[in-house]
Amino acid sequence: MSSQLILDRIRHDKRVWAYRVMRDSDQLPFYRVMNSVNAPTVPVEGRECVMLGSNNYLGMADHPKVRESAMAALRKYGTTVTGSRLLNGTIDLHIELEAELAAWHGTKNALLFTTGYQANLGAISALVGVGDTVIVDSAAHASIYDAARLSRAKIRAFRHNNAAQLDERLSRSVGAKLVIVDGLYSMEGDLAPLDAIADVCEKHDAALMVDEAHSVGVLGERRTGAAELYGVEKRIDVRMGSLSKGLGSTGGFVCGNRDIVDALRAHARTFLFTTAAVPATLGAALASVRMLQTDEGRERGTRTLANATYLRDGLVAAGIPTVDPSPLPDGTEVVSPIVPAFCYTELRVSNTWRKLYDEGVFAAVAMFPAVPQNKAMLRLCVQTEHTHSQLDRAIDALTRHLPPMDFQETDATNYAA
Ligand code: PMP
Repeated sequence: MSSQLILDRIRHDKRVWAYRVMRDSDQLPFYRVMNSVNAPTVPVEGRECVMLGSNNYLGMADHPKVRESAMAALRKYGTTVTGSRLLNGTIDLHIELEAELAAWHGTKNALLFTTGYQANLGAISALVGVGDTVIVDSAAHASIYDAARLSRAKIRAFRHNNAAQLDERLSRSVGAKLVIVDGLYSMEGDLAPLDAIADVCEKHDAALMVDEAHSVGVLGERRTGAAELYGVEKRIDVRMGSLSKGLGSTGGFVCGNRDIVDALRAHARTFLFTTAAVPATLGAALASVRMLQTDEGRERGTRTLANATYLRDGLVAAGIPTVDPSPLPDGTEVVSPIVPAFCYTELRVSNTWRKLYDEGVFAAVAMFPAVPQNKAMLRLCVQTEHTHSQLDRAIDALTRHLPPMDFQETDATNYAA
């Protein structure tokens, strides 16, 4: 490295240092090498684990029909399209999948991106710019914050799920206003109160974008996501989703009207200047999107949500702090497939993670900056095919290794994302 300054910075970087210490003592909960990823139990570094760290909520990523459709696309079109959508990279599968996504969401148009991260980055930076304001929930995904920065609009955060503070922020905003929230929050597993948020946006003539990365395929009668659960689909200007979680593929998309999608085709840099989604991912997504609209697909969602309630009830009975169910306008409540076990401190989350791992339970660790300081958690995700006895193993291990602690949860909204 020729720049001493860069080298010095790396050597004194706290995050790099912590990573090295944990890696060298084999305590690192990250970058573990999976020998298989998606099933309810998987081998990790030689030990069979109950997999509670995968976003394969519906079991689509290893569903035989989805695999077969991916392989058929690979055989027909080859490994990659070797170009951007703009030039040589558009194949008929892109068009077919976009039409399927738009029809499913009841929108005029849809546009595919190579990843969900790129969908947010491209869409947000294409729709607003200098002189405008982006107002974002404090717990929204990192890609939304990155996108807002790239747009060069003013960025304002509002307290998580607090429509009153959003109202206040909007009354002080300038230029075109774009409000962005997650439909289902990726770490704590709670939903945005989309009815209240849509009311405030309409009051201030602000556009509303909802990131349904974790909710598409899982929530709502037609399984299009949180907006459908709240009955506000028609009040949302931009609906973003990921193909990489419940849908068992890789990629991202934006559903919206013709003006929005045409603007993205013209301006979204992460759409224009990158190689388009590869055929196998398109084949996989087409099969899962179609299956999720059948009784078989909907039934998978129902089983996933039942597993989520089972896991959450078990944690609550064991006195382990977890998320509250999200209330819906009709008075019912939802427990999403993301069920956190709050550990609060980084030391406690790492220790608990290691003990669970030694007993064959794999959970994902979330700590700052993915979540606020002092809100470290084990992020547990259920799948359709998890059995009660597998979930019981996790509850039992957590009961023994994560005893209740006398800790006042801080009101941290301190996301670095
Ligand atoms: N939005 C949210 C809320 C996410 O959690 C993620 C991924 N974790 C993304 C967007 C990015 O999606 P992808 O993984 O498809 O790039």
